Amino acid sequence: MPKIKKIIIVGGGTAGFMTASSLINSYGNSGINITLIESSKIKTIGVGEATIPTIRSFYHQLGISDQEVIAKTGATAKLGIQFNGWKNKDSSFVHPFGGFGHDFNNIGFWHYLNAYEPEILDGGLDNLALGSALAKAGKFALPDPIKDTTPIYARFDWALHIDAMLFANFLKDYSLAKGLNYIDAKIEKVEINENNGFIKSLLLDDGKVVEADLFIDCSGFEAILIGKTLGNKFESYEKHLLTNAAWAMPSKRIENPIALTKVTAHSAGWQWQIPLNHRTGNGHVFARDFMNDELALQILETNLPSEKREDARLIKFTPGRRNPWDKNCIAIGLSSGFLEPLESTAIALIQNGIERIKMFFPFDGIDEKVIKEHNRIAQKEFERVRDFIILHYKLNQRGDSEFWRYVAQMDIPDTLSEKIELYKRRGHFVRYSWEMFHHISWLAMYSGFGVLPQNHELMVENMGQSNFRNALNQINLDIERIVARAPLHSQFINHCNKVAS
Ligand SMILES: Cc1cc2nc3c(=O)[nH]c(=O)nc-3n(C[C@H](O)[C@H](O)[C@H](O)COP(=O)(O)OP(=O)(O)OC[C@H]3O[C@@H](n4cnc5c(N)ncnc54)[C@H](O)[C@@H]3O)c2cc1C
Repeated sequence: MPKIKKIIIVGGGTAGFMTASSLINSYGNSGINITLIESSKIKTIGVGEATIPTIRSFYHQLGISDQEVIAKTGATAKLGIQFNGWKNKDSSFVHPFGGFGHDFNNIGFWHYLNAYEPEILDGGLDNLALGSALAKAGKFALPDPIKDTTPIYARFDWALHIDAMLFANFLKDYSLAKGLNYIDAKIEKVEINENNGFIKSLLLDDGKVVEADLFIDCSGFEAILIGKTLGNKFESYEKHLLTNAAWAMPSKRIENPIALTKVTAHSAGWQWQIPLNHRTGNGHVFARDFMNDELALQILETNLPSEKREDARLIKFTPGRRNPWDKNCIAIGLSSGFLEPLESTAIALIQNGIERIKMFFPFDGIDEKVIKEHNRIAQKEFERVRDFIILHYKLNQRGDSEFWRYVAQMDIPDTLSEKIELYKRRGHFVRYSWEMFHHISWLAMYSGFGVLPQNHELMVENMGQSNFRNALNQINLDIERIVARAPLHSQFINHCNKVAS
């Protein structure tokens, strides 16, 4: 088996340049030659702007600061996702990063609420998460380790809203400066080695032929290597995830936007609103079996938060996945699969995919056993995210359209129904291996949709109701104090831009 001396990354979207920057940063001095090929004639998807906190560890590893990314990508801060109209038409709740209140005596906070304040656990958690309280007040502040000793800060985390194009360009500059080879050309044909079925070379539209030992397919929905060339099977999730298209339409910037992604349910899908510092990203994700394209567009236009900046684009997709590693090709990004962006997971899956390449890096040749383990983990991770997304539909109580009635009654994977059952009976969170979302995220959903455990945990009685109420008052006071002194979200962003310039 050949040793890996040359890597070609195909595609220059978010996946391509995240992969390039990370690999060049890790292997730039190991003698491995890394080249990225993209065609400026084929546009990137151009959406993908809401992230989760792991994005920050991605660029920190590259030696890049939060301020730099905020300044270079028109970013704003993100403290969570606000779900409007999901449980029923008038409902609203936040899925915050970080968490709610804090635990006592190693017993989860939600157990105390369930015993002593069940009406708070039933959809009233927003103000008990520092992140959502700050965001809803239009504010943002980083913890000050000297002044802020309250345990509330142990539950604080944040992410970014980024301009996808600017982010890819920023990582392109970073990678080129570190020695990435770059080719702007369209791949016309892929040559296969007849002995082992491996990819041998790529024929480019300028007539050149380029060879490599390892190919990373970041070609987006085209999946030109993993799908079109190697014929790696795509497993569809259409049975459980019904949305399959989105209209995307940017509108003008909003003054001091709140540090939340907003996702608002409509009659056959939902609308995203992502505030950037120079514009607002909007889109309507919908199920084409339940709504036609014209109506979906009309709903988006009617619900834009600010004046439109560009015409809408229709993006069609099939939810699902494939095994990302096949022979000498590894798929990252949309070429490896797609889940609707309800929980902003695609960029995080790209990041985890890159970490997996590094964990299993085939420096001493390509090994079937390694491929199998790599694909097993990728599958588990993807399925766990799929289940979390299905949960959002399954728990709805809207009943006002065929779509919402259908998804409330549909069959769900066993892995998900077991989780819901255990929470309902015992307030217990099942955590499978390779799960992206920890129990706080599940708690946000159960609370937002009004699912409560039937029985309360007996150990909370050691603390007793009045002691818990006092502790709860203290948590509320701490949060109010921090929110009151925090600067506006826009002041924080302006400060970052100033520091970075
Ligand atoms: C509607 C929608 C909303 C989304 N929102 C979010 C979100 O909020 N948060 C999130 O994390 N993710 C989101 N995503 C996902 C996110 O956009 C993608 O995961 C991310 O942009 C990565 O895309 P990519 O790089 O895989 O593909 P692309 O951006 O499509 O890039 C493909 C690249 O391949 C190149 N290419 C293709 N064919 C060839 C060829 N023959 N020769 C040479 N080059 C070629 C193209 O030139 C391009 O550079 C969303 C996706 C969709 C569809």
